[in-house]
Amino acid sequence: MLIFSSCLFVTGILSGQRNTPLDITIDFESYDPPSSLVVPVSDVRQARFPFVDVHSHHFRMAEQDLNKLIAEMDQLNMKVIVNLSGRGGHYLKAMTDNIKAHGYEDRILLFTNIELRTIDESDWAENTVKQIEYDIENGARGLKLYKSQGMFNQDKDGERIKITDPRLKPIWEVCGRNGLPVLIHAADPAAFWQAHDSLNERWLELKLIPSRKREDDNPASWETIINEQLDLFRQNPGTNFISAHFSWFANDLEHLGNLLDEIPNMYIETGAIIAELGRQPRMASKFFDRYQDRILFGKDAYNVEEYYTYFRVFESADEYFPYYKRYHAFWRMYGLDLPDSILKKLYYQNALKLIPGLKPELWKE
Ligand SMILES: [Zn+2]
Repeated sequence: MLIFSSCLFVTGILSGQRNTPLDITIDFESYDPPSSLVVPVSDVRQARFPFVDVHSHHFRMAEQDLNKLIAEMDQLNMKVIVNLSGRGGHYLKAMTDNIKAHGYEDRILLFTNIELRTIDESDWAENTVKQIEYDIENGARGLKLYKSQGMFNQDKDGERIKITDPRLKPIWEVCGRNGLPVLIHAADPAAFWQAHDSLNERWLELKLIPSRKREDDNPASWETIINEQLDLFRQNPGTNFISAHFSWFANDLEHLGNLLDEIPNMYIETGAIIAELGRQPRMASKFFDRYQDRILFGKDAYNVEEYYTYFRVFESADEYFPYYKRYHAFWRMYGLDLPDSILKKLYYQNALKLIPGLKPELWKE
């Protein structure tokens, strides 16, 4: 993508020569000048309050070196991590055994997962409910549905399995009955469905990772998948849902607020959308003020250094600083400078209300 294609005049300061016209063409990827702005810079490597990350993935936690994980969590001031990839059945039990053997059952919580692709089997619902009950006995604190499950999983007729499929109803009910929240990742950023051209904010990401491109019939339109998720929440008021990634409405907070007003059992988490919040600090601060009881801290991909940017956006009043993946967000960000009362809700108080097994004693000072 060309953003400059013109004759620029470069001053020949060193040589003392006259301005020399040069024909310079710079592509979008290489034009990334460091900012010359001189403003205060916060280096926030620890959250101001002990926090819960409700969105993390550790697929091999049965074998994982948990001492290393806990040491990294301590550095970040992360009190509890929620591993959404508990996998279920004997896999989840093996993870719980490893966590218990290390004495970390208060610090590491597991959500379970289910298999949708066998949904046509006549005893699927019964068996899946049994699995969830078995997982609860073995320490599952919630259920996570992956985006692939509402986008790509198909039944035996080759039809996409919608998360509003009535055969799934007993699953939402068993979670509701047992007070387990359901965290759902539906769809992806809307830009992945838009034309891959100069008007697309994720142009670079789609260039680098073309497999992320979607079409209205591959697998369905963005609106279709997002609306199925919202309908699921509406149809199951007795179950609490955590919509991952701000429901992909972090770039339209007024609309997201209207949804939260309408759907009382819907919560949201901040995974992978911090750059959206950071580019609208005033709008986002108002949103956090109004919906402070509905937002949980989540990060998604586990990477210690990336947490610093989250803390900086939430806690600091810094100006015009970069996100850590330019292909994801080429713009600069601003701190929201959230008050302590809201930070505490975001970092742990809302999670304490929603996720069973979180111990309030961990936050006693
Ligand atoms: Zn995730």
